Amino acid sequence: MTDNGDATPLVRVENVNKNFGALHVLRDINLTVSRGEVVVVIGPSGGGKSTLCRAINRLETIDSGTIVFDGQPLPAEGKALARLRSDVGMVFQSFNLFAHKTILENVTLGPIKVRGVPREQAEKRGMELLERVGIASQASKYPAQLSGGQQQRVAIARALAMDPKMILFDEPTSALDPEMVQEVLDVMIGLARDGMTMVVVTHEMGFARRAANRVVFMAEGQIVEENTPDEFFTNASTDRAKDFLSKIL
Ligand code: ADP
Ligand code: MG
Repeated sequence: MTDNGDATPLVRVENVNKNFGALHVLRDINLTVSRGEVVVVIGPSGGGKSTLCRAINRLETIDSGTIVFDGQPLPAEGKALARLRSDVGMVFQSFNLFAHKTILENVTLGPIKVRGVPREQAEKRGMELLERVGIASQASKYPAQLSGGQQQRVAIARALAMDPKMILFDEPTSALDPEMVQEVLDVMIGLARDGMTMVVVTHEMGFARRAANRVVFMAEGQIVEENTPDEFFTNASTDRAKDFLSKIL
């Protein structure tokens, strides 16, 4: 964990509940993410992991409880909401790149349009970020010309281009062919080492063991247990987690 001098948590989720009609998807969720911390969220499909991520950058509203980001309750609208969205990067399972923009344009669009960064400066930074994720040589190509692993690395560069305070990754490697998973995880491990605050929904245990400070196991809308990766994977304390692990290991 990086100590950048601010001990207040970056994210504080308190007693959060969310329903979709009769479905109670988040049940009294409490979760704190410190600055520089890497939290892996793991658990069965339908357990509420994506909804929790989406609630943190307010792509989803909540029914009760509070979410505090960087000392402020989540804003509902306007400039403050736009600011929150650019402070919280998001990388999804489907890469969601703009198909008709080049790789470099995908990375510079946000800074230019949202942050008002001059084009030349955005492009210089964009190339540095593409270098960092190992894609600089593909800058003038279009997304469809890249492999899934390369596209996902571009999506990470695009998130980084906004200088986010944290990045939420929602199953970033589950849509990839197996041989491309590691190249994306390696970029994420690099970010973790550099002190980026990250919440990562993934079942990639290798990543969790190498990069996570904490594993949060979520099922049926609840946080069932939280532990260090080593403890969680070798010595889960609840039957629910043991059952889940027996199916994925
Ligand atoms: P996970 O990411 O752990 O698989 P999700 O957060 O996607 O779980 O979903 C939790 C539950 O909420 C699931 O039962 C899902 O079908 C339901 N759900 C998610 N989004 C919506 C929505 N927009 N409307 C209705 N139900 C939803
Ligand atoms: Mg999900």
